[in-house]
Amino acid sequence: MKKNYNMYEFTYYNPNEYYSKTNKIKNSLIVIIIVLTLVALLVYQIFFRKDKQITTVSSVVTLELEEQKKMEEERKEEEARLEAERIEQERIQKEEEERKAREAKLPKLTNEGIQNIENIYHSEEKRVFLTFDDGPSNVTHQILDTLKENDIKATFFVLGCNVKIFPETTKRIYDDGHFIANHGYTHVYSSIYSSKEAVLDEFNRCNDAVKQVLGEPEYNSHLFRFPGGLPGGKYADLKKEAKQLLNENGIVNIDWNALSGDAEKQHPTPEYLMERIRTTSEGKNSVVCLMHDAAAKKTTADTLQEIINYYKEQGYVFKSFYDIIK
Ligand SMILES: [Zn+2]
Repeated sequence: MKKNYNMYEFTYYNPNEYYSKTNKIKNSLIVIIIVLTLVALLVYQIFFRKDKQITTVSSVVTLELEEQKKMEEERKEEEARLEAERIEQERIQKEEEERKAREAKLPKLTNEGIQNIENIYHSEEKRVFLTFDDGPSNVTHQILDTLKENDIKATFFVLGCNVKIFPETTKRIYDDGHFIANHGYTHVYSSIYSSKEAVLDEFNRCNDAVKQVLGEPEYNSHLFRFPGGLPGGKYADLKKEAKQLLNENGIVNIDWNALSGDAEKQHPTPEYLMERIRTTSEGKNSVVCLMHDAAAKKTTADTLQEIINYYKEQGYVFKSFYDIIK
């Protein structure tokens, strides 16, 4: 009986077997957990690294692009700066050239110029100064056109009152390169020759009108032609005194030694003008030819080409007072 009991006990209760099973399950679980942990770590590691790599590559690319963009911007900025510098240089150079060209057109009376005026009727070469008094007028453009066609520079003794009436014409005379000289303001003898100071005042008023119209505050022709000419006549003594006063103020005067005679008659014909030109110029090497720029003396403008042809045929070189006062 005891044996049976032992047998029974042996059959149904074996502690070694029980512990063995529990340990197996435990070990399996531990192994699974370790494996899972390793797998998780591996997966995490793979993804983390990949992510990090992508982030790194992406960052490098972004940085490079930004660097390129920055360099491109800097290059463009430098180009723009150089272009602005070039434009500024060109502007300064252009302004300087314009200033020089403008300055060159401002008459300057030097001692040489005064000497030149004193010797105006003497020269080795045959030369002629075409001079037009009393303008501007509504025939000035015709005169200017003819001068331009012949590439000749002349001298215009303008009246201040007419400069005010024909500002654009005055500008064209100047822009075409002719010398603008001074013939006073009113051309009214009783007013101009009321005193020597009045003569100087007429010069200054005419000069102010020219300065204003040309937009050249420094303009001064330094050259005056007395209405009616310097010598003789009712105001001869006063004119001499006025000449002295003008000289003291840096102004010289000039008359003429040849003329077209366009003021000698009411309606002179071209033949009359040509005859006067020929007879008054003959035998003279240095000619200062008096003509008029006035509506009433349109024949002069109409005959100008013929007058020019005559002087050309006679071998004269055409001069303006820029060749004298410079
Ligand atoms: Zn006159």
